[in-house]
Amino acid sequence: MDPDQIAEWLARSRRTVALTGAGISTESGIPDFRGPNGVWTRDPKAEARADLRHYVSDPGVRRAAWRTRLDHPGRTARPNAGHLALAELEALGRLALLITQNIDGLHLAAGSSPERTVEIHGTMRDYVCLDCGARGPMSDALARVRAGEEDPACLECGGILKSATISFGQSLVAADLQRAEEAAARSDLFLAIGTSLMVYPVAWLPERALSNGARLVIINAQPTPMDDRAHAVLRGQIGQVLPDMVARVRARLAAPTG
Ligand code: NAD
Ligand code: ZN
Repeated sequence: MDPDQIAEWLARSRRTVALTGAGISTESGIPDFRGPNGVWTRDPKAEARADLRHYVSDPGVRRAAWRTRLDHPGRTARPNAGHLALAELEALGRLALLITQNIDGLHLAAGSSPERTVEIHGTMRDYVCLDCGARGPMSDALARVRAGEEDPACLECGGILKSATISFGQSLVAADLQRAEEAAARSDLFLAIGTSLMVYPVAWLPERALSNGARLVIINAQPTPMDDRAHAVLRGQIGQVLPDMVARVRARLAAPTG
């Protein structure tokens, strides 16, 4: 597919929606789940351990989770060229909503605005109490772990604390899902970037867009189940493909029309 054709679609679009997955953050040093070096590709049992039931019922799982949080690569990761390109697309007025499955906060760190960003699987930047809903910065909870509490309890109610992310076995925040679905249904161009499109219900979103007549563009290193329905599939590295595409959009918008 001619990259200029996609840039043309973007420049003319009024309601572009982007969906990103773990693949946009691998170039920031955070491994994905199902790519060649993915966390689950290398250790399939890790997928089962990610279920909320184990976290709630087994203090050993929680202690291990807190140790993992202490040195998660996402703590020190910086946004890469892909995140910055999407922030620029928004600044150019060509991104109605950014829906991310990522919990690393790197889109917001790159300058995407909170008003136009839905972190549909939550964020690892905060902790939340599973019992009373008390919430605060993850750095506060991690400071307690560093000071010797292996499984810090909620200071309000004594309940179980967890990162403010959606685990398997937990439902999405209804308002976030509704916002994502409505934007997808209204979109005229839908970009699926760095996602294997295997996690539901988020993986339905491109379908919603297509049924409204939107064009679907997939940017992903490996095949996805939606590739044969897409109007364009780009296989390169996101950190190169996306900035190149946005540069073409910028050039088009700057050029005199006529
Ligand atoms: P996934 O692991 O299922 O798929 C990622 C896809 O991105 C793969 O198909 C891979 O080929 C592709 N990819 C990886 N690096 C790429 C690059 N540089 N250029 C182009 N393509 C690249 O990820 P998913 O679809 O997001 O689903 C995994 C779930 O895990 C999500 O729900 C997400 O919440 C969570 N997760 C988040 C993070 C994070 O926050 N950074 C990291 C791992 C997993
Ligand atoms: Zn509590």
